[in-house]
Amino acid sequence: MNTEPYVQDILANLSIIRHRIQVASAKAGRPANDVDLLLATKTVPAEKIQVTIDAGVHLIGENKVQELKEKDYLLGTLPVERHFIGHLQTNKIKDVLKYVSCIQSVDRIELAEKLDSRLRFEGRTIDVLVQVNTSFEESKFGAHPNEAIALIEKVKRFDTLRVKGLMTIGLFDADPEKVRPSFRLLRQIRDEALEKGWLTPGQAALSMGMSGDLETAIEEGATMVRVGTALFGKRQYPDSYYWNENKQVT
Ligand SMILES: *Cc1c(COP(=O)(O)O)cnc(C)c1O
Repeated sequence: MNTEPYVQDILANLSIIRHRIQVASAKAGRPANDVDLLLATKTVPAEKIQVTIDAGVHLIGENKVQELKEKDYLLGTLPVERHFIGHLQTNKIKDVLKYVSCIQSVDRIELAEKLDSRLRFEGRTIDVLVQVNTSFEESKFGAHPNEAIALIEKVKRFDTLRVKGLMTIGLFDADPEKVRPSFRLLRQIRDEALEKGWLTPGQAALSMGMSGDLETAIEEGATMVRVGTALFGKRQYPDSYYWNENKQVT
């Protein structure tokens, strides 16, 4: 049993987050089990992640293939589903597919093509979300909202890619009300796609909302929130380091 002093903090934080999800769901008139909790575990050591898995967490997200690889000795043996939530470079496809069951960051056709070709080689399929840049900020990845539907259409044509819904990071702002339009936009894109038959109800997931704004995201229809800081505390590196792999970190 893990008796490190951080265990109590992690368990307390987890119960606070579950409570927040419950309250927000109730407020939005949605059943609490409508909303999945994914823990964003970048920089968090595998032993700490294990504490949450022992407490019932079944879903984590990593931003870097390197971290998936480093933590696999432990996480690979535990009942947890791993998703990729970072920017995926095509030269990392082969590696990332060893660890994850879903890639939430399909944001360009080139990536979909290369994923498809590797998956066909391996004779398997994978779940994907199409990532949309709903904040219109240059610095973030994701398809432009105007191009999201076209991208969904193209990604759907690959038999190896099972489209499950959409993902967004949203505007980076401490004020959840400023982030709300990002979440609303993602839902509108999803709803339009549903209406026009480009997505089916089984492809309607909305992965949005983080530590500071999960309530807002749930009000706007999130079916999965991705939480890091509120559970594990502040990270050492700025998020730009994880979100903008190709770009200059300032
Ligand atoms: C780190 C991260 C999160 C979690 O952010 P917190 O503010 O720490 O809760 C969610 N989504 C993505 C893509 C991330 O990289």
